[in-house]
Amino acid sequence: MSAGNRTLEQIIGELEFDPQMLKQKYERERDKRLVGEGQGQYAPATDGKFAQFGRDPWTRSDFNRAPMMGHTEVIIAGGGFGGLLMGARLHEMGVADIRVIDEAGDFGGTWYWNRYPGAMCDIEAHIYMPLLEETGHAPRHRYAYWDEMLELSQKIGRLHGLYDKACFQTVITATRWLEEERRWLVETDRGDRLTATYLVLACGRQSLPKLPAIAGIDKFEGHAFHSSRWDYEYTGGQGDGKLTKLKDKRVAIIGTGATAIQIVPEVAKWAKQLDVFQRTPSHVGIRGQRPTAPDYADMSKPGWQKERRENFQRLISALPQEVDLVADGWTDSLKRLRPAYTANELGDLLGRPATSEERDLVAEISDYRVMNSLRSRIAEIVKDAATAESLKPWYRWRCKRPCFHDDYLAAFNSPNVRLVDTQGRGVEAFSSHGIVVDEVEYPIDCVIFATGFEAGISYVRLTGFDVVGRGGGTLSEHWSNGVRSLHGLMTDGFPNLFMIGGNQHSVAAVNAVHLLDEQASHVAHIVGQVRQRNGTLVEPTAGSVDAYTDLIRNAPTNGVLMRFFAACTPGYYNGEGKAASAADLFAGNRYGDGPMAFYEMLARWRQAQSLDGLSIG
Ligand code: NDP
Repeated sequence: MSAGNRTLEQIIGELEFDPQMLKQKYERERDKRLVGEGQGQYAPATDGKFAQFGRDPWTRSDFNRAPMMGHTEVIIAGGGFGGLLMGARLHEMGVADIRVIDEAGDFGGTWYWNRYPGAMCDIEAHIYMPLLEETGHAPRHRYAYWDEMLELSQKIGRLHGLYDKACFQTVITATRWLEEERRWLVETDRGDRLTATYLVLACGRQSLPKLPAIAGIDKFEGHAFHSSRWDYEYTGGQGDGKLTKLKDKRVAIIGTGATAIQIVPEVAKWAKQLDVFQRTPSHVGIRGQRPTAPDYADMSKPGWQKERRENFQRLISALPQEVDLVADGWTDSLKRLRPAYTANELGDLLGRPATSEERDLVAEISDYRVMNSLRSRIAEIVKDAATAESLKPWYRWRCKRPCFHDDYLAAFNSPNVRLVDTQGRGVEAFSSHGIVVDEVEYPIDCVIFATGFEAGISYVRLTGFDVVGRGGGTLSEHWSNGVRSLHGLMTDGFPNLFMIGGNQHSVAAVNAVHLLDEQASHVAHIVGQVRQRNGTLVEPTAGSVDAYTDLIRNAPTNGVLMRFFAACTPGYYNGEGKAASAADLFAGNRYGDGPMAFYEMLARWRQAQSLDGLSIG
């Protein structure tokens, strides 16, 4: 039989499960998890008893310096991978007068703050770690740990002279465009009044730790900290990961997201008792972590990292590729989710155009198969049947951040580790010395909140300052009816301002550093072109911003994504079960044709060298 004569039933193959029953199970599990408050169920980790939660455990707090004045060509807000890439790409363009400002005590961003035991990147190091080719750094593990990430950050800082004018332990409090001077004024909590020709916001996306607003949380008298501010003084193990001080401690971890997955196996090794409080299980595939032998990847050919990143991105976007260079859980799962799943491929198999219902059905069946295999993996690893059953996730693969780990599931076989399944309701209450679920009190000495970070919030909430542009208009007013941008990087009325990171009007890239590098290279190109034209001012025209904003808002994929996420179990991907409210984050407001198309569109724009849509002065 030729491919073009196949029926839908033949393409799907024999079903070893009942899709209707699975669908109903997913719906029941999702409904169990729906809470009315949405984002309101969380409290910022800055209030009352938890006011110290956000403090910096890694750098001395008694640091003091005199307020500074002065001008640099560029100020970059944020010294994480986004800010470092921005500094590096500008430096390569000949711009050396750069000041990076960050609340942290060093470069590193996410990897400066998140130093919990076992913290590693869940994307392959060779495509995630920035500027490997330029720094000559060869990753030590397939998935790099936080300390190597910090080491590379410092290397980049040194290589590009970014330490010279960096202001660490400094929080920006206000930014304002000075019309006459044609420059930005940046004020800080240290009394600085700094100016810059260009201002780049590289402030990340999810950096504000959040806590569940659980009854009695203030009354808990035991020890507590958030995963992103690990308390090694309490646990022991700073530097060697040996959490020896937990040997006589009953520890609770609240949360089972991507962070907790990495922490649980480490704490399990040391704590007297570990109780893991689960609301929704993550799905956890094979990680395949290992040290990288010198021949792990061919890093010799110029452009190898870009090629490897693009190969990964194409594969996970269901675009044809002859080889799979990364070949890990991401590409494997997405290959299995892919079959026929572009309209053309399914049409070729059927011998006629496929309907959208047929495509949805084929995609749904593949998803059940992938999730079934992940559920079987749990049953194979976890010995206690009831625990294994509780760890099974009942939602589609893309509904939550996919997780991969080699030791998480096996940790539940340790006699000192117990899963407390809250049946989708979450922790009920705290007592003075424990946690209450289903009216049972679990005595606890130390609680580790692996409860994530504020997501889908406004730029002002994220950064703590508004941006005042031409004529005194603020960015929050300018965006009060939704984000307006050209390429997600600039907006009208805010000359010489660039915003990198985040998802607004760009893409939700699995490999966030790939996106950051594309954005940083694009901004550096614009600054280089403006300099070449002897300009000092660049701003998108209102017309170009309108056109790009329309393109984003009218992308046909928005509705598809919104429907997909609305059916998902709640989480930050869908505004905690309110998909429409997450429109600015994941379920819309993105470049409809996906990451590779976005990067290619930016590259074509640069190649044209016409600075289309920008006015230069
Ligand atoms: P998440 O928001 O993903 O997870 C928070 C966890 O806390 C969830 O399991 C959530 O349950 C749980 N939770 C919240 N409230 C309660 C409650 N009242 N009772 C019980 N449980 C509760 O945060 P993470 O820190 O895990 O991840 C944050 C981000 O960082 C993600 O984007 C993640 O992908 C990323 N990350 C990336 C890594 C990388 O390697 N690149 C590594 C680690 C994290 P529920 O699911 O029910 O809401």
